Amino acid sequence: MKLCSIASGSSGNCIYVGNETTNLIVDAGISGKRIENGLSELEVSAAQLDGILVTHEHLDHVKGLGVMTRRYGLPIYATRGTIEALMRTKDMAATPEQLLHEIKPDEPFKLKDVEVHPIHISHDAADPVAYRFSADGKSVAVMTDLGMYDDYILRSLRGVSALLLEANHDVNMLQVGKYPYYLKQRILSERGHLSNDTAGRLTLDLLGQGDELRTVLLGHLSHENNYEELAYETVRSEIKLQGGKAVPEGFTLMVASRERRSECVSA
Ligand SMILES: [Zn+2]
Ligand SMILES: [Zn+2]
Repeated sequence: MKLCSIASGSSGNCIYVGNETTNLIVDAGISGKRIENGLSELEVSAAQLDGILVTHEHLDHVKGLGVMTRRYGLPIYATRGTIEALMRTKDMAATPEQLLHEIKPDEPFKLKDVEVHPIHISHDAADPVAYRFSADGKSVAVMTDLGMYDDYILRSLRGVSALLLEANHDVNMLQVGKYPYYLKQRILSERGHLSNDTAGRLTLDLLGQGDELRTVLLGHLSHENNYEELAYETVRSEIKLQGGKAVPEGFTLMVASRERRSECVSA
């Protein structure tokens, strides 16, 4: 299975997951044109997609959803709360009902050869989820937009080979930055976003659960309160410091760019 970020960040998210038979995207938070271009770089045409899995209704995850659905008639998978929130928007209100597929956290379903497992996450949206994908005995997951993690999240990610994980902000940059107080509190809350430090601890916890995890691709970086080197170094030092040992052999940490497509991770 392949995991590849077409765009990841607070200004737009679209992640490709697929294998020889199945092509999926998680979120469509950039323009239709950028999604088409990103897919064509992967030698996938948008018409070939087997579905769009939506994590939640925030604009940075759905900006291109209406366009993609109208242009290609692609099926949308989302929780009831997310579907209801989407249907209240002008862009999505006229979406044909047969394209909307309701999913539930912890009720896995199959799209062709890939099993999709929605995971409940804590975020200030109607009913947000992250996704884990399994095929050919391997799993990858896309986990962004969550204010905290707990044992349930760790259990849900156990055994994944590759993970796109939110590292949204540096806590100090956020605290001294220019965002208004209420917004800082929102981001830092349990229904906000994962900081670099927390992403580091989560990675360390996952590495402690077993040796399947080979790649973590940090994503959903904030434009205002983070930058690529800082996210990378913070997570890397967290793994080293807390674990008291070097980063495990064969483990790769990468950062997904906000603007450019990431390298593809194979699992
Ligand atoms: Zn969000
Ligand atoms: Zn987001």
